[in-house]
Amino acid sequence: MDERTLTLIRDVPDYPKPGILFKDITPLLGDATAFAAVVDELAGLAEVDKIVGIEARGFILAAPVAYRGGSGFVPVRKKGKLPAETLEESYDLEYGSAAIEVHRDAFAPGDRVLIVDDVLATGGTAAATVELVRRAGAEVVGVAVLMELAFLKGRERLPGVDVHALLTV
Ligand code: IMP
Repeated sequence: MDERTLTLIRDVPDYPKPGILFKDITPLLGDATAFAAVVDELAGLAEVDKIVGIEARGFILAAPVAYRGGSGFVPVRKKGKLPAETLEESYDLEYGSAAIEVHRDAFAPGDRVLIVDDVLATGGTAAATVELVRRAGAEVVGVAVLMELAFLKGRERLPGVDVHALLTV
């Protein structure tokens, strides 16, 4: 990604709580050229059957990436939001834990899948999503994010997974 795209991601101090510097991608999403460049680059990473998007900001990128690349779209959602039978995976947060779900029948056996999210931080969300996709019978081709916060070492929680970040800070 070029320098200009990076400048369209805004630092918001003390969000969602004091001491956290939040990377806000909404200025980038609002810029037609940058948004299209990001979607095109993510869509060019791999030929897959399904793109998995992680709620909620992951959906914003994953759905156009699926459309652009001719893949299906599968939502991974927070617990309790999907209507049909689900598989569930829990993971640790800084304080407490969270659970995400995918529909049990979301994939055909052996489907090749690329997981897309906006930001890779500690890697907990992505690692839980990899587990969920594998348990649902699909093959994880990789995890692709717009931005990786490398100092949080999220990759270390994704051993053996091909992780691709368009931007790294
Ligand atoms: P992780 O599980 O710690 O890697 O956190 C990644 C998840 O939290 C992703 O779904 C992101 O959307 C969200 N996230 C964490 N930090 C940020 C940030 O600075 N900006 C935007 N999203 C973030």
